[in-house]
Amino acid sequence: MTSSDSIKINKTQNSRVAGVDFDNIPLGRTFTDHMFICEFVDGAWKNPRIEPLEKIPTHPAAMALHYGQAIFEGMKATMDPGGNPLLFRPEQNAARLNFSARRMGMPELPEYLFIQGLKVLVELERNWIPKKEGSALYLRPFMYADEPFIGMRAATTYKFIIIASPAGPFFSKRIKLWAEKKFIRAAEGGTGEAKAAGNYAAAIRPTEIAKSKGYDQVLWLDSLERNYIQEVGTMNIFFKINGSFITPELDGAVLNGITRLSVITILKDEGFEVTERKISIDEIIEASRDGSLEEAFGTGTAVGIAYIQEIGYGASTIQVSDSSPIGEKVNTILNGIKTGKLEDRFNWMVKIDTND
Ligand SMILES: *Cc1c(COP(=O)(O)O)cnc(C)c1O
Repeated sequence: MTSSDSIKINKTQNSRVAGVDFDNIPLGRTFTDHMFICEFVDGAWKNPRIEPLEKIPTHPAAMALHYGQAIFEGMKATMDPGGNPLLFRPEQNAARLNFSARRMGMPELPEYLFIQGLKVLVELERNWIPKKEGSALYLRPFMYADEPFIGMRAATTYKFIIIASPAGPFFSKRIKLWAEKKFIRAAEGGTGEAKAAGNYAAAIRPTEIAKSKGYDQVLWLDSLERNYIQEVGTMNIFFKINGSFITPELDGAVLNGITRLSVITILKDEGFEVTERKISIDEIIEASRDGSLEEAFGTGTAVGIAYIQEIGYGASTIQVSDSSPIGEKVNTILNGIKTGKLEDRFNWMVKIDTND
């Protein structure tokens, strides 16, 4: 299984793409015509294929529903000015999926199958890639245990699927964060480093509470002291203090974001110092008070860079300055590379060529 020949394609006769209003795409609700799917059975991944997107019959005892063996990835396909679909660092997503799989006792997926599945699906759905500046085709690879079994052990059968959803330009208003002192997202030794479905289930209620207080997202603090900053919703976080950047180190609880990794590379390339270390909330409060906190932003595939306006922490509010010149510059560079308008000088982009 080394070429696209082994991926069978069952094409729909009824594409829905003509009915989509690409100027007004409802977030996360519109799906393309097809999905990539394969199954793990008898110790191997089998039958990789493209099928028309449809519901999948599920046994009520499917283990993912009971014990939560479910992981996912998130990435985007864009179109270069010549009309060629592009993927951003897909090998990083493939590696992270397998990292998550190992942590959750799930089988790894061969990287070539992950990449080839993406390429064949995106090539087939190329008319679904939105052309508007800032738009992209969001790709959601995911794996879950579908073995019907009541009992606590690793499942023996799984599905790996990739679905795709066109996403309009993200309107980047500055966000407000609530630093959470009661609930935590992840502890070292737990599953925070994995893109495991359960992590997000545990974040839903605290996020709803933060929203009811007028905030957009939760800023997660460490599990032991509620003092060190971890990350935000589905984003990593950066601060600019006295001219240089800091971001929480990957301590085993923080998700290893591909946007984070890329932003670190771009910032260093722009001549900035970037330090990955423990960052206490007190340090940020102090920097805000003495005026040395110059910028704060979140990074993630869904939004790129999200500028932070303020952070609520108990009774106090940490104000961040209302412009992010460096964050905006990095965002422009990142988007320029992703859309093929800037030179791909870090060798991040993968052109869709299903003949390789
Ligand atoms: C996916 C995710 C991120 C961002 O990762 P990217 O690879 O940059 O999209 C950050 N934090 C959490 C918790 C995530 O799930």
